[in-house]
Amino acid sequence: MKRLISLALCLLLALGALSGCTSSTPSTPAAPEAGGMTAGTYTATVPGMHGPLSVEVTVTADAIEDVQVTSHVETPAVGDWAVELMPAAIVEHQSTGVDAVSGVTITSGAILRAVEDCLTQAGADLEAFRAYTAPVLEDAEYTADVIIVGGGGAGMSAAITAIENGASVILVEKMGFVGGNSVVSGGIYNAPDPSKQDNPENSFGDTDAIVEELLAQEPVSDLHAEMLETVRAEYEAYKKTDKVLFDSPTFFALQSWNGGDKVGDLAMMKIMCDNSLEGLKWYESMGMEFHPQITLASGSLYPRTHRAVMPNGSGYFKAFQDRLAQEPAESYTELLDTKAVGLIMDGDKVVGVNAEGKGGQKVTLKANNGVILATGGFAGNVELRQEYCEGEKWPDLGPNVVTSNMAGVTGDGIFFARDAGAKLVNMDQIQLLHICNPNTGATYDIVSVELFVNQEGKRFVREDGRRDEMSKAIIAQTGSIMYSIFSADFTPDPNTAKSLGGITLQTLLDTPGSGYFVADTLEELAEKLDMPADELIATVEHFNACVEGTAEDTEFGRRAYQGKKIITAPFYACTRAPAVHHTMGGVLIDADCRAIKEDGTPVPGLYCAGEITGVLHGANRIGGNAIVDFTVFGRIAGESAAKAK
Ligand code: ADP
Repeated sequence: MKRLISLALCLLLALGALSGCTSSTPSTPAAPEAGGMTAGTYTATVPGMHGPLSVEVTVTADAIEDVQVTSHVETPAVGDWAVELMPAAIVEHQSTGVDAVSGVTITSGAILRAVEDCLTQAGADLEAFRAYTAPVLEDAEYTADVIIVGGGGAGMSAAITAIENGASVILVEKMGFVGGNSVVSGGIYNAPDPSKQDNPENSFGDTDAIVEELLAQEPVSDLHAEMLETVRAEYEAYKKTDKVLFDSPTFFALQSWNGGDKVGDLAMMKIMCDNSLEGLKWYESMGMEFHPQITLASGSLYPRTHRAVMPNGSGYFKAFQDRLAQEPAESYTELLDTKAVGLIMDGDKVVGVNAEGKGGQKVTLKANNGVILATGGFAGNVELRQEYCEGEKWPDLGPNVVTSNMAGVTGDGIFFARDAGAKLVNMDQIQLLHICNPNTGATYDIVSVELFVNQEGKRFVREDGRRDEMSKAIIAQTGSIMYSIFSADFTPDPNTAKSLGGITLQTLLDTPGSGYFVADTLEELAEKLDMPADELIATVEHFNACVEGTAEDTEFGRRAYQGKKIITAPFYACTRAPAVHHTMGGVLIDADCRAIKEDGTPVPGLYCAGEITGVLHGANRIGGNAIVDFTVFGRIAGESAAKAK
């Protein structure tokens, strides 16, 4: 495969499969005339995104010979792009005036500052090294069987599958790297998987009560009745075995649909859940690793969550990129820093995409078979979320409410699809995630989600409940925040225990303003949190009794536990708050991922997958279902577009 950043668009001239690429003027290296540096290797350390970032710069008398980022604590799979691309760009252009990687400006800026520090130590004329003329890129036109807009999980899944179905693919991504929200997600994947769930060491609390409650429901449609009957028969069969946990794809689908208040489409949910395990195995077949232990991720409702070994969503992207790297350029081309601005129509048929490069040059993309929109949701777009959803459920979705979303995820494709005739559904359904950093909305710094207490040291919600219920409950607490409490029982060594994003607990504790606290006793922890110690101690004791099975959570109704008590020092607390996280509404699609019009017919040539679609999750997206969604429907979209279904 060929990955191209905007600076390298001209290289497309060499790609025979692509038509109409025009040349560009090469950039002008700064070539500082001042010289006069003392040759040698210099080091500097500056504050980065989450901690110190160090560089080593080797110079001759008049040139930057080498730049290495020697250590950093940047956001995994996001900051890594700047760490990979910036040093090479600085050396290539002999300049600290080069552009930041789009979407990774803080890390890019830290690298530039650290390099300038080294150049200053070497006695350089900094102004001369800052001179940089960006390359002038000219308009270009390309053709492929399938054009994909958006390089998140849905776009990448679709790309691989379209190629496997014989199509050539061009994927455009507006940021300087692929990943989208998918790469900064928790990386969690729900799938019933008896091979991991039937482990006698697992102890998840009273899960039978969860199944029985679901089975007691009155059916509301023929499909619902049929699926309830299936689960009833499966559950009866399970009770005759000595299996640790009941689960099945149909139960998973019914639970997910109920968890979205039955607003989503049950048939589509069934497709997702029926294909969930196959999707997991698809990743494993591409070399991706998951932890052997099944967990109950926060907001996931049942212990069927698989956790990726690599931080956040980076494992999925490594798998995607390793797989796509095997493809020749005529099969797969990635255009980074290229923003789609609209669809090209031939009558009512979608035949391509109009895009813009970083330098403002026009990029015209023509599709032989179809266009897949995989641009994600709009949780990062304050105006849209206020327009569609602010009201009864979420009184305030304005700029003061942080988001967990990446900057590029602003709902663009939803409106391209609407303008091409597609129907939008459930646009008023927005999810807040309850376990985010109160200042940044980030989720990479979560270590544990076992026990939630308010400022008064009391529980206020069931921790195994729905994300919207937990978020609403937090908003109602003092300061609209909560503390997640855990102990050495979960993370024996803070130097090796890592957050979702792979940052060590010790680093988080050492970072001012991270919201993390540690103490040797619960009394001391309560003091640090300015909370009544007797309340916190009573809360932890009751939690421990529930884990043991000697008490029940009659107040909030929690049923599922991870089987670990909070007894061993040190004790930790982490401040958390809700952030706007996922938009459940979007483009109406059918089972082939074709975009559907108001009259029920497909928009010819247009396919959608992932968070851009609006039909699946209903009023609340279950934790751990987003990656299953982009995997299953991304693959379906890839096949459908390749075959021009
Ligand atoms: P999903 O989970 O559905 O794949 P993500 O949020 O992970 O959604 O990815 C969506 C991707 O689409 C992001 O990388 C985002 O930068 C990209 N994107 C959004 N709008 C555009 C656009 N107009 N042109 C190109 N890429 C876009």
